[in-house]
Amino acid sequence: MTTFDGNALAGRLDDLLGWDATASEVRCTHCGLRGLLATAAVYASAMGAVVRCRSCDAVLLTVVDAPDGRSWLGMPGLSAVELRRG
Ligand SMILES: [Zn+2]
Repeated sequence: MTTFDGNALAGRLDDLLGWDATASEVRCTHCGLRGLLATAAVYASAMGAVVRCRSCDAVLLTVVDAPDGRSWLGMPGLSAVELRRG
């Protein structure tokens, strides 16, 4: 497993969501820290990625790439995600 910062997820999330979520502010459910997803810690493996809070190490977001071509996005530790309109 390799560690990156949140910027490593930019292309991946853009592919899955249609927008670059790393430029969004998020809030950690565990400790309440707010910051850009790009600043979180990303642990990547062949199966996908786990994103952890820099403050409390809680799992914020997971991406699992299944062998059948589907991907699963989990957001177990995000209490809020900034979305930009228009
Ligand atoms: Zn936290």
